[in-house]
Amino acid sequence: MKRKFRGNQHCDAANNRRVDDGSIQSEDTFLSASARKIQSESQDRSPPNAENKTKNVTGYRFMDIALLDELFKQMPCPERHKSALLLEDNPNERYGCASHLRIQCSQCGWVYTFYTSKKVNQFFDINRRFIYAMRAIGQGQSSARRFCAYMNLPPPANPKSYNHCNNALANAAKNVALSTMKEAGMELHKDCNDEVVPCRVSCDGTWQRRGYSSLNGCVTTISADTGKCIDVEVLSKVCHGCKRIEKENDENTKAIHQAEYVGKCKANFQGSAPAMETEGVARIFARSEELHSLQYTEFFGDGESKAYLRVENIYDDVHVEKKECVGHVKKRVGTALRKLKKENKGLGGKGKLTDGTLQHRH
Ligand SMILES: [Zn+2]
Ligand SMILES: [Zn+2]
Repeated sequence: MKRKFRGNQHCDAANNRRVDDGSIQSEDTFLSASARKIQSESQDRSPPNAENKTKNVTGYRFMDIALLDELFKQMPCPERHKSALLLEDNPNERYGCASHLRIQCSQCGWVYTFYTSKKVNQFFDINRRFIYAMRAIGQGQSSARRFCAYMNLPPPANPKSYNHCNNALANAAKNVALSTMKEAGMELHKDCNDEVVPCRVSCDGTWQRRGYSSLNGCVTTISADTGKCIDVEVLSKVCHGCKRIEKENDENTKAIHQAEYVGKCKANFQGSAPAMETEGVARIFARSEELHSLQYTEFFGDGESKAYLRVENIYDDVHVEKKECVGHVKKRVGTALRKLKKENKGLGGKGKLTDGTLQHRH
């Protein structure tokens, strides 16, 4: 019988399988034994091509572990002992969301242990993915903990692993972002590769917090032709590392920490939050030739953009033209329409100005 489950053939779980005398059973011995058994048990019920139907058996499922226990109760051990398999969760070997499970035959002592996640580069995929998912929806470690608690899941990885993972994810995300932006820049060159090419861009700033009190901001530049992001500038008014060092009372320790921290400061902007956008746009324009061999000669932006005035003469040989960005117009028209609708109840309703149509305008 052909092996069906190929998921973890390269992971450590495959090496954990052993019989009770300590000798390692090879994967094929195990699989053929149990596979033969399953086949003979279920031959009359399953269609002959049942083994080909596991194509979408990949990824994660929320699963009540009691149901897994029930399942094993239905299965014989490789020595064909029935209703003898006991499932155990070993909390001492758990790594965050990767639980260590153990099945043992109560009659012959046959044991099989496995983790509930594969490892990728020595790290459990589930732990990386979980934090990645949390970060992607704007949540951090405390949310991850609360999520696990409410879901009746074991708690996630400890703060140290969390930080390690978070840094790894940040690096990976940064690398992917840089390479995709590089590609998006290349795409605008079409055939002429090394010359500086003019292109049309739209710039927009966004703040970590709404309003102008935010300490972190980000300016993105999108190609008006391809719609792809070609550059980003993140601006921070604060640096938590420096803040922490500032709090140190002992002058010697402080000096050591400061020396270690040279070049690592995260703060890259001083000034008012509204000025952040202008500064971000200016930095992005200033490096366009070096980064992409592009000149952003047409600036699509908000009508009242101060940023444009800052960059209109940034290139020696060409003047940057200001264009009205459709996206920004849509945004303003949408806001105005929503306000209008609120004030005039008769405008809403079926076939009229529904929130749905307004959404599209946003
Ligand atoms: Zn047994
Ligand atoms: Zn700093």
